[in-house]
Amino acid sequence: MKIRKNDTVLVVTGKDKGKEGKVRFAYPKDERILVEGVNFIKVHSKARRQVRQAGIIEREAPFHVSNVMLLCSRCDHPVRIGFRLLEDGRKVRFCHSCGEAID
Ligand SMILES: [Zn+2]
Repeated sequence: MKIRKNDTVLVVTGKDKGKEGKVRFAYPKDERILVEGVNFIKVHSKARRQVRQAGIIEREAPFHVSNVMLLCSRCDHPVRIGFRLLEDGRKVRFCHSCGEAID
């Protein structure tokens, strides 16, 4: 998957379009990510012993990785990512704009 944990991404579609955030979790199998401060959903919760507050709480929900673009720290804008194979066989991501390796 092109986006990984701790990447800084920009949301390019949906209700949170234009928001930036850090990827907190990545779920490569589902191609989904959880981003700090993005895609809040309302969750109805019942009162439990551990949770004092009952009712509706808001929390971030995972969403599809195609809704974001990576923010390149060098270009300082959203970029497309490519993969490059190193001589030792490792596959690294690189920025299409500046050519800088990201991993
Ligand atoms: Zn770049």
